[in-house]
Amino acid sequence: MSAQKEDWKQKYRELALEIEDNQSRFEKQESVLNQIIGSMVLGLEGEDAKLDLELNELKANLVHTDDTRALKRIAKGLDKHLRHRDESREQHASSILEAVQRWIRQLRYSSDESTVQNLLDGCEQRSHNLTTAIYELPSLLSDLVELQAGISADLNVVPQPSESTTPATVEGDSAEEQVRLLQAIATELNTLLSGLSLAREDAEENRKLIRSIDDGIMLSDLPKILRQVIKLVGKSYSSGSEEFESYLLDLSSQLSEVENFIKDSQSEQNSIGENQRKLDLQVRTNVQQLHETVKSTHDLNELKRAVAGKLQHVVQAMDDFKRDEDQREQRLRERYENLLDKVEQMEKETREVRAHMEAEKARATTDALTGLPNRAAYDERITEEVERWRRYETHFSVAVGDLDFFKRINDSYGHLAGDKVLRLIAKVIRLKLRGADFIARYGGEEFVIIMPSTSAVEAHKAIDKIRQAVSKSPFNFHGKPVGVTMSFGVTEALEGDNGESLFSRADELLYKAKANGRNQVLIG
Ligand code: GH3
Ligand code: MG
Ligand code: MG
Repeated sequence: MSAQKEDWKQKYRELALEIEDNQSRFEKQESVLNQIIGSMVLGLEGEDAKLDLELNELKANLVHTDDTRALKRIAKGLDKHLRHRDESREQHASSILEAVQRWIRQLRYSSDESTVQNLLDGCEQRSHNLTTAIYELPSLLSDLVELQAGISADLNVVPQPSESTTPATVEGDSAEEQVRLLQAIATELNTLLSGLSLAREDAEENRKLIRSIDDGIMLSDLPKILRQVIKLVGKSYSSGSEEFESYLLDLSSQLSEVENFIKDSQSEQNSIGENQRKLDLQVRTNVQQLHETVKSTHDLNELKRAVAGKLQHVVQAMDDFKRDEDQREQRLRERYENLLDKVEQMEKETREVRAHMEAEKARATTDALTGLPNRAAYDERITEEVERWRRYETHFSVAVGDLDFFKRINDSYGHLAGDKVLRLIAKVIRLKLRGADFIARYGGEEFVIIMPSTSAVEAHKAIDKIRQAVSKSPFNFHGKPVGVTMSFGVTEALEGDNGESLFSRADELLYKAKANGRNQVLIG
């Protein structure tokens, strides 16, 4: 019995020791795990606001928690945000990859030197790693910038007039051609930019860009300028942007051709020097040999033959030089003319695209039935006018008008007759308004009038004249006069007003005028 008891005691002690041992191992593991999670949290922090919230909660719960449910919830949230972060990181990486590869393609086009092409091969290869190893981006970018700088510097060497034997007119022509082409491109870009309609801060950027283009552009500036142009154009006409993108792509490929032309004409320039030196050497050698023949020859006939032979060589060398020069000049001229045609074509396209854009914009802001500005145009205008009123603190009024019993006109004479009345009324109101006033068809048979620098009393007078003119307007149906009247609500801007508050006050007054018996103007 006692031996059995001893046995149990022993077993109990062993078990207690084992539990203690397990406990201490578990605590050690827990502390190591806490450390690992802590470091991972530090690494993840600052990437995504929502993820940060989850991480903070995790940190708070890490040290001492027995609440496994809370930990499970946090783990679920973390998983969701990490997935989201991965997705956006992937998108980000693939758009970076696309942009980098576009850049590489452009650089390939700008230089045909084999060393540059080899370096670009390397960059292209490295670019493929970007989707999985975005940390490679900075070094890749700095290599591309170096390559770009080298290429741009090559292209920017404007030929300097030299004192060599090269005919001055050829070099002068080429430098002038470059300047003329750049001027034509600058004019075209500025025509385009000055036609854009932009929000205030973008308009300021646009003006700066126009000024800097006016001050003169260099070839190496073109890619940067073009990127700015594309950005501004995109902001200006989001609807026509597809057409614009293709137009700008065209433009940028034309510009690459200009770059190539200038590069080629520079290498042609260098070859003139080469030819000239060759000719020089040939003439000198022949004259030197002639000199020696004269000194060493005593026979007149032999001398004659030698002189004739040498002269023939000289004439041949000069002929060759002239032929090469003519051919070179011809090549240059043809390419230059071809380019001028292209620039002209670009100018034509710019004019067409701009006219098209203006027509689009006009269509988008004009009411087709009456030809008046529409509600979109009103929304834009009221924002500007309210801003102006706040700046200058003058009077400023808005009127809303609506045709009385218009439904009856439609019902009695048909919809087409109703349309005709709307056109006529629009004309009557427009004729009565002052130059600074702005009218829009707000919708249906409702019109809105913006009257800058006008007090409520003055606005009331002006709008009442319109009301009278409408009621006397000569609308006939089958020879019989049809009475048309309008009611209006007029209000002046007060401190704290904005476009919406002004409109809704005028609209309320309009409905009071309707309730009061119609054909009247109420102010308030
Ligand atoms: P009230 O004096 O209260 O304004 O009466 P109303 O009949 O003018 O007003 P209601 O809102 O009942 O009807 C407006 C009518 O205007 C109904 C709609 O068919 C007509 N309308 C709206 N736009 C046009 C349009 O472009 N052409 C024509 N012909 N009718 C239009
Ligand atoms: Mg009406
Ligand atoms: Mg109405």
